[in-house]
Amino acid sequence: MKRVLITGASRGIGAACARVFAKSGYGVIINYNYSEEEALRLAEEIGAETIRADVSDSAQVADMFKAAGEVDVLVNNAGISGFYMLDAMSDDEWNRMIGVNLSGMFYCTRAVLPQMLRRKSGAIVNVSSMWGICGASCEAAYSASKAGVIGLTKALAKEVGPSGIRVNCVAPGAIDTEMNKKLGEEAIKELCEETPLGRLGRPEEVAAAILFLADDEGFITGQVLSPNGGLII
Ligand code: NAP
Repeated sequence: MKRVLITGASRGIGAACARVFAKSGYGVIINYNYSEEEALRLAEEIGAETIRADVSDSAQVADMFKAAGEVDVLVNNAGISGFYMLDAMSDDEWNRMIGVNLSGMFYCTRAVLPQMLRRKSGAIVNVSSMWGICGASCEAAYSASKAGVIGLTKALAKEVGPSGIRVNCVAPGAIDTEMNKKLGEEAIKELCEETPLGRLGRPEEVAAAILFLADDEGFITGQVLSPNGGLII
């Protein structure tokens, strides 16, 4: 049985990934940081394992991969967002955003690569954002972290492709998860009006794109797939 480790899988897009990979026959490892109850409930629902680790802490990440054993697919999904005027942003706020969204991906990827390189197979799917492609006002740190994810994906795809490892990326549009609850009703309405498909995306729709990119028969690597309802084309 193939095994997938999904970071930030206690809710939202990560939880939808856990469900869809489990349905496709994968052994699923759910990573979470704070949301233990949700993670354990989901693990029971789909028969998965759970490992707590803050992805921005390289020591915790190293321990997580020791505990995880064989991992065929890594989904780097854990992320945080936040609205800041850049001139008012503190060092801590900046470092936390980059630490979780970008360094976290580096720590997890570095930890899983040795076993994938040894086996000469594996797939990594990173979760960026459409804001990493086109930038969002008052989200410079978030946009920078997600643009970094795209650069990481493309460079690593070149580096490890010769070893049979594929690295791809999704850059979702506005998706109906807790992350967007803080936007407020009016902003959500505007986003829906600006989106050609006229609605928010569902976490399951992003999870389907991630599963597609993880398919080990694939010839796709270094690519960015953006399920965004046509909001950016
Ligand atoms: P969400 O509902 O807020 O879920 C975020 C998940 O990440 C939670 O499971 C959370 O678990 C986990 N997490 C946060 N910090 C962590 C850390 N330091 N270590 C381990 N896990 C951590 O958000 P979502 O919308 O599903 O977002 C998932 C990913 O999609 C993020 O990378 C986000 O940037 C990206 N994305 C989302 C949207 C959108 O519109 N929703 C659009 C584009 C991209 P704990 O509560 O346990 O910490």
